[in-house]
Amino acid sequence: MMSVRGRSRRPTLCVQNREVNDMNLNIVTIPGDGIGPEIVREACKVLDRVGQVYGHTMNYTEILMGGCSIDKYGVPLTDEALATAKAADAVLLGAVGGNVGNSRWYDVAPNLRPEAGLLAIRKGLNLFANIRPAYLYKELSDACPLKKKIIGDGFDMVIMRELTGGLYFGDRYTKEVGGVTTAVDTLIYNEDEIRRIAVKAFDIAMKRRKSVISVDKANVLDSSRLWRKVVEDVAKDYPEVKLTHMLVDNCAMQLVMNPGQFDVILTENMFGDILSDEASMITGSIGMLSSASLNETKFGMYEPSHGSAPDIAGQDIANPIATILSAAMMLRYSFDLDMEAAAIEAAVQQVLTEGYRTGDIYSDGCMKVGTTQMGDLIAERIIA
Ligand code: NAD
Repeated sequence: MMSVRGRSRRPTLCVQNREVNDMNLNIVTIPGDGIGPEIVREACKVLDRVGQVYGHTMNYTEILMGGCSIDKYGVPLTDEALATAKAADAVLLGAVGGNVGNSRWYDVAPNLRPEAGLLAIRKGLNLFANIRPAYLYKELSDACPLKKKIIGDGFDMVIMRELTGGLYFGDRYTKEVGGVTTAVDTLIYNEDEIRRIAVKAFDIAMKRRKSVISVDKANVLDSSRLWRKVVEDVAKDYPEVKLTHMLVDNCAMQLVMNPGQFDVILTENMFGDILSDEASMITGSIGMLSSASLNETKFGMYEPSHGSAPDIAGQDIANPIATILSAAMMLRYSFDLDMEAAAIEAAVQQVLTEGYRTGDIYSDGCMKVGTTQMGDLIAERIIA
């Protein structure tokens, strides 16, 4: 199972990749705040190395978002910055935000705070599909809170979460009903919203182990029954992909009982919110977790799952691997450069196997390195 990542995937993907040599990749970078600039710099270093080795040209345009944009323009994201992001092929984001309890960026209305830029760009780019991989590196398995017999050979899954519908976006209100304060939230999905995320999940399964587990609560919710029906319909276009349905409560249990069974988990917004945090926790290492948010085209925004870590900013100690792996996702999902993405993942695997660690993943007997050196080591290991 672990062989899906890294070099062992290359032979089949190589055939697919031969058609896409010498690409021009127009990438908007958003370094953001805190450790953002340091980790984006290392991801670009690795992308540049990929460009050299595989003959692609990386064109970067940097925009401001978050606290740094507030400092310069008074708002967390300008219309011009959003327009620049829209015009790119893909966006690579570090992180935004500062020390919430102790920063001038938070003495303003919520819509003017750094994180408002994040919501605005997700909405402005219509990013409805969120992908978060949860992969356990053998070298870091001590950080996994699960028992060894449960971990087995490890796990390698992605959670495909619907991001712009469902309970978080339905009507909500609180009112008095018969003298009792009553709150209402509305869970709403239409078939088009379900279809487009399901298509993304099946497309991604085709690049992986060809298994989709669709998670719902169809024994109770109408929206889940529609979800199941539409997902089954989409599955007819992907005869190679095995589709299974799982109830969300069972899925929450299965993630900690038998995580190795999952390849692609497809689910709606709130279930995905909870399950993706659960899945990332069992990898045990926040500095390693990449993510992607996609729209209906190949366009996507790629970012680490962690925040701007203001407590360690500017010290050259942040782990850049989550951002570097996000750049690999960008190559795979926005540019169909599967072989190049696998080369980055293999390089990350190699530095871990050789024993290099940033402080957050350090254990006795390993070699501690900083942000810049980790980027150098990974870039040096990118080979054709
Ligand atoms: P955080 O993820 O930034 O940090 C949590 C802990 O993990 C800290 O101790 C930090 O030092 C550590 N950590 C995080 N990334 C690391 C890395 N790459 N290497 C080593 N250690 C790392 O979460 P937080 O402290 O709750 O939030 C800090 C700021 O980030 C806040 O302003 C928050 O709003 C913002 N935030 C932004 C995003 C985003 O831009 N997508 C996401 C989450 C939080």
